[in-house]
Formats: sequence, C-alpha cells, structure tokens
Amino acid sequence: MPLIPHRCEECGERRPDVKRMPDPFVEGQGEEGAELMRLCPPCATARFEDS
Ligand SMILES: [Zn+2]
Repeated sequence: MPLIPHRCEECGERRPDVKRMPDPFVEGQGEEGAELMRLCPPCATARFEDS
C-alpha cells in the first residue's frame, strides 16, 4: 500500500515531510497544552516565528 503524504494544515499542501507536532505557535509562546497539528517544515517555522 503506497504511503499517502499528509496534508499540511497551514498551506494545504500534501508533502511527505508533513509531521504531526504540537502547534509551534503555542509552543513558541511557552504555553502548555498545544494542540497537535500536521505541518510541513516551512509552515512550522513560520508559525513559530509568528509567535
Ligand atoms: Zn505547509
């Protein structure tokens, strides 16, 4: 069965490097309880830098 790439919740692109991670925006603010999101690396970095 072929591996279907996950879709990034931020940009909507399907990429093989999309990962499930705690919301970097919330994490960047040093808050607990970040919800898990599926993000590609550029969007994860962008969210972190926006925090
Ligand atoms: Zn993305």
